[in-house]
Amino acid sequence: MAEETIFSKIIRKEIPADIVYQDDLVTAFRDISPRAPSHVLIIPNKFIPTLNDIEEEDELMMGRMFTVAKKLAKDEGIDEGGYRLIMNCNAHGGQEVYHIHMHLLGGRPLGPLLIDQ
Ligand code: 5GP
Repeated sequence: MAEETIFSKIIRKEIPADIVYQDDLVTAFRDISPRAPSHVLIIPNKFIPTLNDIEEEDELMMGRMFTVAKKLAKDEGIDEGGYRLIMNCNAHGGQEVYHIHMHLLGGRPLGPLLIDQ
């Protein structure tokens, strides 16, 4: 059984984070090490270690992650200019924190495909 990460503590507000959105299913907060002028992480409140662990019962929550990303892109003023949503899975995907999360990145041209280059 995988162990909860620091993101669970952020959801429960046991450690500080710049939370920009929270509801019954998801929480969004600014990345501590932003790679673009806007860099927000959108995560499920439920602990799910990797994309390989998603179940059919998680479909509502996964859909919510996208509608919250769309709302936050508008709030951040990056919807018209454009943005990128990224989810990394396991070592080859570059996943560092094992609680699934969607990166919302924007505010500058991001270049082709990869965020770190
Ligand atoms: P990954 O590489 O797993 O897709 O991305 C993990 C992200 O979480 C990284 O962009 C990293 O900067 C961010 N991160 C890691 N620890 C913390 C933290 O304690 N607070 C916040 N706000 N972001 C974190």
